[in-house]
Amino acid sequence: MAKTILVFIETRESKIRKSSIEALSAARRLAPENTLAAAVLGPCDDAATLAHYGAGQVYTVNSGSLASFSADMYSAGLNAIVEMVKPDYIAGSATIFGRELFGRLAAKLGRTPASDCVEMHWNNGEIKLVRPVYSGKARSTVSFRGDPPSLFTLRPNVFPADSPDVSRSCEVSAVEMAIQAGTASVTLVEVLKPDTAELDASEAQVVVSGGRAMKGPDNFEILRKLVSVIPNAALGASRAAVDSGWIDHHYQVGQTGKVVSPQLYIACGISGAIQHLAGMSSSKCIVAVNKDPEAPIFKVADYGIVGDLFEIVPKLTEEFKKLLAS
Ligand SMILES: Cc1cc2nc3c(=O)[nH]c(=O)nc-3n(C[C@H](O)[C@H](O)[C@H](O)COP(=O)(O)OP(=O)(O)OC[C@H]3O[C@@H](n4cnc5c(N)ncnc54)[C@H](O)[C@@H]3O)c2cc1C
Repeated sequence: MAKTILVFIETRESKIRKSSIEALSAARRLAPENTLAAAVLGPCDDAATLAHYGAGQVYTVNSGSLASFSADMYSAGLNAIVEMVKPDYIAGSATIFGRELFGRLAAKLGRTPASDCVEMHWNNGEIKLVRPVYSGKARSTVSFRGDPPSLFTLRPNVFPADSPDVSRSCEVSAVEMAIQAGTASVTLVEVLKPDTAELDASEAQVVVSGGRAMKGPDNFEILRKLVSVIPNAALGASRAAVDSGWIDHHYQVGQTGKVVSPQLYIACGISGAIQHLAGMSSSKCIVAVNKDPEAPIFKVADYGIVGDLFEIVPKLTEEFKKLLAS
């Protein structure tokens, strides 16, 4: 039976985020008979382009109190769209905002969300989802019971975004909603942007991470050199490197850092503690450089290089340079 899926679309600086396009594309691929709608909250310049990725209807809510993300205000806005659309499923991306929003909306609706899912299947008119549990040590398959709507979020970078079909268009409806300004329990005071234009590890196709073996902040330069020769690559780090003060927390990958799912993850001098694996084990290909052949990282690595990273990484950089130049 056909179902209605409402996908929450996250924006940054009024532009749709790639992870939301991935969620919309994944929802579209589920079953052709389903109805797909998109919900956009706050300012957005390109809401109409959501039709190119399969949205049959786009709902927008834009009031002053949605100018920046606030889980209170956004869950109220999204709930207003949910009441109108009455979807069977509400999907979104498991970004930092997505996780907070879906937790709050689920509480409002009296539901339990399935968060950070890495697989999605259509089974007899129902969605089945797979999500890593216990810091990625196991995977659980979940389906929903009870009345709709059911809520879930998808891990960024796991589901491919479709190519846009620019011949498609759909109606974009502005939903009027009186959200009382100043009622948010948390308000945005200031946005501190990183001083570099570096790619964020959670959106990169290749992540090169360094651990305690980097021995100090200056040595991260050899990883930055490798990052600089690979297109769509970003730098990452283990918590040991972050806690040592060698690199900002913004780069941390793991349970208490970012969850990344690049095509290629290169772990340099990282032992492979379970908390680190929680943030990168869904990478498509894992390469580990470690001088200890018994390091646990080799258990999850597709390719392992036993050796000193200070010798290996510059060689890798040269090889990438040659390969990508040809
Ligand atoms: C609640 C909690 C949350 C946590 N969250 C996170 C998290 O989000 N992310 C995270 O990363 N950790 C997290 N941790 C910490 C985690 O348990 C590990 O302590 C941490 O990941 C270890 O970092 P590391 O692998 O860089 O260091 P180590 O475990 O010290 O490993 C260093 C590795 O480098 C190798 N090495 C040394 N020299 C060289 C060299 N010259 N060349 C090549 N290899 C070399 C060694 O053989 C070793 O395997 C968390 C811990 C807790 C308790």
